Amino acid sequence: MYNIIAAFSIYLLLSRVSSISDLLIVSRDDWNAKPPTLVEPMANPVPYVIIHHSYQPGACNTQEDCIRAMQSMQQYHQVERGWNDIGYSFAVGGDNRAYVGRGWSAVGAHAPKYNTRSIGICVIGDWREDLPPSSQLQTVKDLIQYGVEHGKIAKDYILFGHRQVRETECPGDALFNEIQKWPHWEPNPSISPQNTNNVNSGANSISVKRNRLLN
Ligand SMILES: [Zn+2]
Repeated sequence: MYNIIAAFSIYLLLSRVSSISDLLIVSRDDWNAKPPTLVEPMANPVPYVIIHHSYQPGACNTQEDCIRAMQSMQQYHQVERGWNDIGYSFAVGGDNRAYVGRGWSAVGAHAPKYNTRSIGICVIGDWREDLPPSSQLQTVKDLIQYGVEHGKIAKDYILFGHRQVRETECPGDALFNEIQKWPHWEPNPSISPQNTNNVNSGANSISVKRNRLLN
């Protein structure tokens, strides 16, 4: 009898873990990331989540292809653009895995003015016309939920598409239409970035951060 109760308790415990128990997070070691040249710590929880698409590389559907996509994005950002690391906090592949970029607690290079207080998630692929598969979208949602449950993302976070915080087509029309239906999406960046009321310092920081732009 005791065993049955114990087994049932374990069952209850496990069943309480929501869909994010299926979340597969691929570490930097597992995609053979090169070390960052510099890590700037970022405080958690962050108030913003910003969604991107990669545009290029295109969609990947196997772990092998997604690893290759991660490596090519890191190469582009770190070597060709001279950034510290791949720009995004995470990227999600069509293999339904979440790949660690800069991770939860490092300043990113994906959305000027928001890099110090947001998690930037790249949905690997070109989502201007086509939507990512629903399983890939679910992985993005699970990753956000994981971040909330682990105190990395604020419970009342605000979700934006990249195009809402700078002039870009990212994350593509189809994906942008999709995320507008998601919880926490807001139509306008109503909370001003720190430096908007100082035009001169804003201009300086734009020129400094100019080489931090990406999809
Ligand atoms: Zn973007």
